[in-house]
Amino acid sequence: MGENSKIDWTDHTFNPWIGCQKVSLGCDHCYAEMLNKRYNWNGAGWGPRAPRKLTSEVYWKQPYRWNRKALEASERRRVFCASLADVFDNNAPEGARERLFVLIRNTPVLDWLLLTKRPENIRGMLPDDWGDGYGNVWLGATAENQECYDRRWRILSAIPAKIRFVSYEPALGPLDIMGLRSYPDWIICGGESGGNARRMKRRWARDLRDQCDRVGVAFFMKQMAKKAPIPEDLLIREFPIRCRKLAA
Ligand code: SF4
Repeated sequence: MGENSKIDWTDHTFNPWIGCQKVSLGCDHCYAEMLNKRYNWNGAGWGPRAPRKLTSEVYWKQPYRWNRKALEASERRRVFCASLADVFDNNAPEGARERLFVLIRNTPVLDWLLLTKRPENIRGMLPDDWGDGYGNVWLGATAENQECYDRRWRILSAIPAKIRFVSYEPALGPLDIMGLRSYPDWIICGGESGGNARRMKRRWARDLRDQCDRVGVAFFMKQMAKKAPIPEDLLIREFPIRCRKLAA
């Protein structure tokens, strides 16, 4: 939860609350759960009955500072939300998501990347003035395997948003994005990290890179499994083209 994120594809991370519940295979080695066990942030572990703890008032002020700094630098900055929770969790603290959307509206020089494993909840949880999507929000879904991609992308692709993206991390199987008629603007590809990391074959990343190339999807290679060195031909770190247009 630092000023500058350690995640390569974002400038900052912001967690409106801490706590979540596992929903699919990609959650098996949840990094947030592991950290919560170590620091006991929400006081009661992880899962359906565990509380989602709102982060502090001081912490909630940080994005305003980031927005001011971005303005001074005449540069848009990306904020990943959330790394220790899921923005579209049914058990979010009362009023916290509404408050988050107010914060997002009030920080227009920040691009907010809302990544979820629960895209089925998004539509019912968007603010009334969402329209075609806020200009500073990218909506994303995690897809760790083909089954998740087919299900979650189908849902996400039907929701209005300026930029839609898919995080294929942790990559747990090959991915074919050509089977559906529409494509995300951006795909992040990454293997699992940590001691029990599951394997990601290089072939999966190369196949996906080639598919993205064919249909004009921006491809961002984040990491190999267990943070092994990224082969040179996979060192591609693109962002969606519309992201640059928004920055004008
Ligand atoms: S959705 Fe994310 S934060 Fe929630 S349990 Fe799964 S991996 Fe952890």
